Amino acid sequence: MAKQRVGVYPGTFDPITNGHMDIIKRSLGLVDKLVIGVATNPSKNPLFSLQERVDIVTRETARLAQASGTTIEVVQFDELLMKFAERVGADFIIRGLRAVADFEYEFQMTGMNYQINPDIETVFLMADPRYQTIASRLVKEVAMYGGNITAFVPQKVGLEVVAKVDGMAK
Ligand code: ADP
Repeated sequence: MAKQRVGVYPGTFDPITNGHMDIIKRSLGLVDKLVIGVATNPSKNPLFSLQERVDIVTRETARLAQASGTTIEVVQFDELLMKFAERVGADFIIRGLRAVADFEYEFQMTGMNYQINPDIETVFLMADPRYQTIASRLVKEVAMYGGNITAFVPQKVGLEVVAKVDGMAK
């Protein structure tokens, strides 16, 4: 039997958006197992706790795993991405590319990662144009100002973001 291809898709997922969901869907066609790494990222001062983000990503991706037959594992991590990728036995790191703005950072990070471990390939995927401009940070900003975020995140996540933001305002 051929070796299982394992991909890691890392991010903060604060919250998971339709852009992330689209990248996850596309990744499922490329690997036998997808490990979604939820970064602690305290420096980004997340709206949702690490456990909440892990639970939400697990819930929102369960149906995708079922439909595709590809295994999805949602795992938290608080270490160098390459260490995490090695630890879970990954062959690929999957990143989503939005506009040119993402490129410079991703270019540098990939270059350094190749020096740390040249055997783990980084694969860039583009979301459907409808989702390319979505960013978690902007979703939170729109919600804080009472804007409608239903086009940007899965339905239940939208309600959770609004509840969180309302709770903070009190
Ligand atoms: P953000 O950058 O929105 O805070 P993350 O850190 O959780 O989100 O991002 C995880 C990965 O998903 C990164 O590779 C990022 O470029 C990618 N990504 C996020 N939003 C989108 C999108 N709308 N389209 C394509 N890729 C995306």
